[in-house]
Amino acid sequence: MKEFPDPQPGPGEVLVRMRASGMCGSDLHFYRGTASFGGGADIIQGHEPCGEVHAVGPGVTPEIASVGDRVMIHHYWGCNTCDHCRSGWPQMCDGGNVHTLCIDEPGGHAPYMVVPARTLLPLPDSLSYKAGAAIGCGTGTAWGGLKRLGDLGGTTLVVLGQGPVGLSGTMLASALGARVIGVDINSTRLDRANRFGASEVVNSAEVDIREAISELTGGKGADLVLETSGVANGDALKVLGKWGRACFIGLPGPVSFKTEEIFRNQWTLMTSWTLSSIEQRRCAEFVAARKLPVDDLFTKIWSLDQAAEAYEWFDKQTDGKGVFEF
Ligand SMILES: [Zn+2]
Ligand SMILES: [Zn+2]
Repeated sequence: MKEFPDPQPGPGEVLVRMRASGMCGSDLHFYRGTASFGGGADIIQGHEPCGEVHAVGPGVTPEIASVGDRVMIHHYWGCNTCDHCRSGWPQMCDGGNVHTLCIDEPGGHAPYMVVPARTLLPLPDSLSYKAGAAIGCGTGTAWGGLKRLGDLGGTTLVVLGQGPVGLSGTMLASALGARVIGVDINSTRLDRANRFGASEVVNSAEVDIREAISELTGGKGADLVLETSGVANGDALKVLGKWGRACFIGLPGPVSFKTEEIFRNQWTLMTSWTLSSIEQRRCAEFVAARKLPVDDLFTKIWSLDQAAEAYEWFDKQTDGKGVFEF
């Protein structure tokens, strides 16, 4: 825990009063000191911020942001002019100067934060601040991975890992029309997967995953796989059927395969980098329209002065997701 001065918004920036700041699995790379990128000890952590506009800097007109707006934040910004920035993907900016919350810009684990006004997205009225926080990365990352997998309607999707991202994938994909088979090694997480819309669940610590999915799919295997655990990459290829598509979002786990295996099965294998600002807004609107229980992803609500205890708890990765509320 460190003291930082409250920031002031410069030209084109807004001061956001934080109302919820989520804890995301990728925060643990920095907490444990195992990150292969950024995240120094002097950067305020938290890349799932959500709050309300408290003040605007010079040049921020009411069409862009006004005091009191309820806002989510897309947690990257870039040059704002290259094709990737213009299409909502500043994390892929060609300008060579990507800014990322909690890596090289102060994040949301503080009462106030300053961000460029162009990173703001409206939080639908019916969504809580903590739902907006989750959609900012964890739940949003599941949405982004599902969008890369393509049309989900009528497919059988295996979601590997039922932590906060996997559980979000189960919830969103079942609402999008997939039959979801949730897989984990933790029975508590599988109980939650059932409540979040999984049609079936499989405990891969207790049964052979290849046989279990084969049995549930009449020997065909899964149409689609969303791998969220980072440790079950091999399982993804064990359960994927012919013509299957798999998306690996549990980074940075290795996966190995023979090209001939992909050839014979005509697989499409991919990863997905969180989501675009445009999809973040769409995800929020979908969650609001379908009244999905994103709030229930959070099993712990903390105040900021409990941060040390909160991260010790989160580091165990056994019990859902936490959020700081302000
Ligand atoms: Zn750019
Ligand atoms: Zn994250």
